[in-house]
Amino acid sequence: MSIRTCKNGHTFDKSSSCPVCPICSGEEMGEKFGDEFPKLGAPAFRALDSAGIRHLSQLTNYTEEQLLQLHGFGPKALRILKETLNEKGLSLSK
Ligand SMILES: [Zn+2]
Repeated sequence: MSIRTCKNGHTFDKSSSCPVCPICSGEEMGEKFGDEFPKLGAPAFRALDSAGIRHLSQLTNYTEEQLLQLHGFGPKALRILKETLNEKGLSLSK
């Protein structure tokens, strides 16, 4: 485990292969995805971004397994997203 400091002064544990500061990229991703999405971690947002997902409605084309296979997307992000989809009357693909 090694601690790094980004150019904006955030310290973070660089234990993954992603060289990006999670705080900076989280803010960046939050802006990119807008208010439609719940607060997910930066790795989860990057995973959705890499899959080309920008809207909650797009998630209905994905199964839980497919989402969990995305790099950086974990069970916690999945749970939060499912709750949000439920509230909007949407659900993941089966
Ligand atoms: Zn930063």
